[in-house]
Amino acid sequence: MLVSKIKNKLPKKFYESLEFNKFRPSQEKAINAGLLEGKNMLVCSPTASGKTFVAELAGIKRILEDGGKMVYIVPLKSLASEKADEFKEKYTDFGIQTALSIGDPDSSEGWLSKYDIIVCTSEKFDSLLRHNIPWLKDVQTVIFDEIHLLNDTNRGPTLEIIITLLKRVLTNVQIIGLSATIGNPEEFADWLDAELIEDKWRPVELHQGIFHEDKLKFLKFKDDKPISKTVSDSALNVAMDTINLGKQALVFCPTKKSAEATAEKIADLINEKFNDDLSSKIMGSAGSATRQCIRLSKCVTAGTAFHHSGLLSKQKKLVENGFKDNKIKIICCTPTLAMGVNLPAFRVIMKSLKRFTGRGMDWIPVLEYHQMTGRAGRPDFGDDFGEAITLAGTEKEFKFIKEKYVEGDSEEITSKLSVEPVLRSAVLSLVASGFVIKLDDLIEFFKETFYGQQFGDDFGFRLKIEDAVSSLIDFGFMKQTDNTILPTKIGRRVSELYIYPDAAHDLIEGLNKMNTDFDNIAILHLIASNWEMYPWTNIQKKDYEWIETSVEEIMDKIVAEPPNKWDWTYTAFLKKCKTCFLMNEWIHESNEEFILDEYNVPPGELRNVISRADWLLYGASELCKLTDNLAKVNQINKIKLRVKNGIKSELIPLVRLRGIGRVRARRLYSAGFKNVLKLRTAKLDELSRIIGKAIAEKVKEQVGQKIIRES
Ligand code: ADP
Repeated sequence: MLVSKIKNKLPKKFYESLEFNKFRPSQEKAINAGLLEGKNMLVCSPTASGKTFVAELAGIKRILEDGGKMVYIVPLKSLASEKADEFKEKYTDFGIQTALSIGDPDSSEGWLSKYDIIVCTSEKFDSLLRHNIPWLKDVQTVIFDEIHLLNDTNRGPTLEIIITLLKRVLTNVQIIGLSATIGNPEEFADWLDAELIEDKWRPVELHQGIFHEDKLKFLKFKDDKPISKTVSDSALNVAMDTINLGKQALVFCPTKKSAEATAEKIADLINEKFNDDLSSKIMGSAGSATRQCIRLSKCVTAGTAFHHSGLLSKQKKLVENGFKDNKIKIICCTPTLAMGVNLPAFRVIMKSLKRFTGRGMDWIPVLEYHQMTGRAGRPDFGDDFGEAITLAGTEKEFKFIKEKYVEGDSEEITSKLSVEPVLRSAVLSLVASGFVIKLDDLIEFFKETFYGQQFGDDFGFRLKIEDAVSSLIDFGFMKQTDNTILPTKIGRRVSELYIYPDAAHDLIEGLNKMNTDFDNIAILHLIASNWEMYPWTNIQKKDYEWIETSVEEIMDKIVAEPPNKWDWTYTAFLKKCKTCFLMNEWIHESNEEFILDEYNVPPGELRNVISRADWLLYGASELCKLTDNLAKVNQINKIKLRVKNGIKSELIPLVRLRGIGRVRARRLYSAGFKNVLKLRTAKLDELSRIIGKAIAEKVKEQVGQKIIRES
């Protein structure tokens, strides 16, 4: 379809800004199905086939014509930043303001009311809804990117509740779901009340191959290709073949450890040195270069890299940009990269299609396979095709991969809302934000969820919701009189704080048990044990002994009862304790290198622990105010500051100043500038020598002193 066909349906400036003259198949189908007339859409098509632009067509048209807002919801913060940048670049000239909202979950973000496009994660939007955002009524288009994640146990329920709620409260909203290929698109579209748009068109052809018996066997398009066997690991041979072709590859590995080891082995095989610049940037990317930093920078020198959640965001960005600039030829990554930023490659190599699931090694879902293969082929770089390669050890495995993944259908999406803690959280958020006040309404609401559609006839359906209500009443988060259910003050706060009710209940019980003059380790252990901190720090065999010994030393200070050694919860208990000791190490100013060596926790993972702990400590302090624990607030707030900054208590006054973190605070303290008074009387030059001139000036201004410049 020619773009000119819809000239009259788009605002002039939007139409004139379009840089292409023909619509892609999924776009054409969506337009014909009523996209520009406000119909809900479920678009299922491969990566880079033009789905996002379907959403933009509808959303931008409505913003320009009616002044309504467009909310664009993505699964990951990194994706949200990328999308927001893209929209800013494209639409700011139209007078359209784009906001990125991924921060503090305990905020109604009043500033967003001025913006036309709001890009956020589903968790952030959920938390905004819990704060009764006044601009909700102005939302006219909501886009759910990667909507098939409704099938995901962790992310799915939040998405499902948001969609149900929006369908209910915004009668005029246009919902557009963007999805990979799924097994039950009709059922899903029916629930969304959406037109189903399915299309298989890709901007470049996808050649799927299985590496078996030293050959890349393509199942369509081309002949088998022999690959020289340099080493026994097939993934390495295929990666080296990619480099020899002058191309780039993403190697998806099942674990962080395997991603690192694979990148290092490829670097050894390349055995050349270039990229000195990039490599030194990596070395300088953390406060102090850790063992991980050194390993990454060595890989980068040879043109490979690893990429996983253990890296700092700065390091990930350097790796991503290095790949885009073709300085890095191979990235060995964990599967999250497939869902994250837009980083296509000529070849995608899937080292293993099995993953550890807690019940042993299981085959990954077909949906996940498609997500990874979606990264193959770089249309913007003129590739005619991309290759997605899996590895088969045996003939049987070859047949299995071919049938299940290459030729098989994706899984059906099923609601994951019935998991009890999840259901309780959804019930509390609906009641606490006032969307529902009658038990019957609550049941009606859940009938409208995908869960209700899929399992609504189930005898246990009503019972499950009533159970959730009664647990929340037991927790003290809700009250019921006949058919009316209302939140308590604490319940409302728990919902706003965005803590799962079960986790908040454990937190409150622990806070109640703690003495007023509690030891710091008590609150650290309470926080570390909370299941909002899941997954806890991993433990290895060698860790058992030292953790058990250390636990004995803190036993009389913490509120938890340790389980018996033969209890199935014992290992989890030790993991929680290790997380607690790790946090304690951090607030005693151990550096990241030490923590990596002693705890086997890389800097990126440490940051994750810190940010979750920081959030829970904030929650704990807020909940203390409502539960007769006011006397504990001060100490918790101090610990929170220490956890956030990784400092001993003596540095607290210094890190309160903007621009001063753990390293600068320690330098100032060691030089005798131990408090604000000392900083006020200090000479600017003296401070500049310690923390640099720009920061020294900032500090001086903050301590309320005019800068005295020395001649
Ligand atoms: P998806 O969301 O399916 O991954 P996008 O909508 O982001 O795909 O589109 C991928 C790329 O194709 C973008 O750079 C976009 O500008 C471009 N694009 C979208 N629609 C068209 C079109 N009709 N013709 C040419 N390029 C297009």
